[in-house]
Amino acid sequence: MTVGTVDRQLRDRAARVLPGGMYGHQNAKLLSPDHPQFFARGSGARVWDADGTEYVDLMCSWGPIVLGHQHEGVQRAVRAQMEKAECLNGPTDVLVELSELLVDTVAHARWALFAKNGTDATTTAVTIARAATGRDKILVAKGAYHGSAPWCTPGPAGVTAEDRVNVVKFEYNDLDSVRAAVAEAGAGNVAAIVVCPLRHDTFRDQELVEPAFAIGLRAICDTIGAALVLDEVRAGLRLDLAGSWESHGVRPDLSAWSKAIANGHALACVLGTDALREAASSIYVTGSFWMAATSMAAAVATISAIRDDDGIASMHRAGSRLRDGLEAQAKSHGFDVRCSGPAQLPFLTFAGDTDFALAREWAAGCARNGVYLHPTHNWFIGAAHTDADIDRALDGTDAAFAALAGADRAA
Ligand code: PMP
Repeated sequence: MTVGTVDRQLRDRAARVLPGGMYGHQNAKLLSPDHPQFFARGSGARVWDADGTEYVDLMCSWGPIVLGHQHEGVQRAVRAQMEKAECLNGPTDVLVELSELLVDTVAHARWALFAKNGTDATTTAVTIARAATGRDKILVAKGAYHGSAPWCTPGPAGVTAEDRVNVVKFEYNDLDSVRAAVAEAGAGNVAAIVVCPLRHDTFRDQELVEPAFAIGLRAICDTIGAALVLDEVRAGLRLDLAGSWESHGVRPDLSAWSKAIANGHALACVLGTDALREAASSIYVTGSFWMAATSMAAAVATISAIRDDDGIASMHRAGSRLRDGLEAQAKSHGFDVRCSGPAQLPFLTFAGDTDFALAREWAAGCARNGVYLHPTHNWFIGAAHTDADIDRALDGTDAAFAALAGADRAA
């Protein structure tokens, strides 16, 4: 099986008017001929591709869909705001309401600054840290993704050495390597350490943060007078509404958010402490659509719903059911797999599958059996995933393991 007629026609047309037919990480050519490029609609935990094929959605639009597609409360808030205004000469009252909600919800936050994408948020956080400290250097973990701006994009094309000259790398979960990076940069030159709540780099098993690492980073930042920036873009609102390192007792100076914040509507934000309030007001950042009101109304509805309906517990339950099922299936089909990361951000790799060939074939089998997931990037669970959705997904993953086992035996 390959993708349907409508998808193929759209790909042909796109090849003429889009660079590479589709740019960036959503290029379906990175997956398999069984993965669709184009989607038509979503509802709850299900999506339909352009040819009308239904999938249980285990990618949640790469994270934004935290409450399910077309969540009624969020969509109602969006429609009500759209009736009034989307884009005016200045912000609406929703800007203040959302800022208050975030300051009340996220433990370290005393103010909020909004943008559109995760890259805006991480880049703005770095700018604020530099404005606050008057320093240049930024420490980031090797292999971590913080966005597609020249200072952090993993793709070297079009990027100059000068764009990166102030970025120094360390190893995630390795404090000695952080100390070495500080020494390389010069302690008095470090504006910020930027770090994700867990190691969720592509092409490898996920790795939870060691509490001592989080605590140690906080201590190093305090000692050298640098800002600790927590990049919550991918994990934020799925692990702990108060902040992903709250259970470790570690609060950042700045945090960057996007993806799940407005259940699929375009919004990002930087949250910060009182000590960085002045620096945040000193920098010049803005965008034509950064004050657009509907996504802010969506964010108020999204965060309130996760809080009021205990969405994180729902995601944890659904993700655990999925992981238990996958581990049992892999065993019964004779595969040695590793499920890594928190239940809400699942991922599966095959032991010894260094080129991800098995993972790709299995993911293609999942797509053929109505389950949309990714072979090399972590997946996402949403609060809309019911037991029935997970069981339906497990039917598909089981069929994909069976097909892979059959192919293995035939080979
Ligand atoms: N930081 C992290 C941890 C991310 O996962 C991403 C997006 N995958 C970004 C930053 C950049 O976000 P965006 O693609 O919205 O610019």
